[in-house]
Amino acid sequence: MSALPPCPACKSTYTYEDGSMLICPEFAHEWSQSAAVAPS
Ligand SMILES: [Zn+2]
Repeated sequence: MSALPPCPACKSTYTYEDGSMLICPEFAHEWSQSAAVAPS
């Protein structure tokens, strides 16, 4: 199973996927997976 990244804005780990988007229920943030912080 793939781990979803935490919200880049509030660090919530309750993110979930909606198609190619990731959604944070804490503040209704939405962002694309491609914009997620990549490990350096
Ligand atoms: Zn958030």
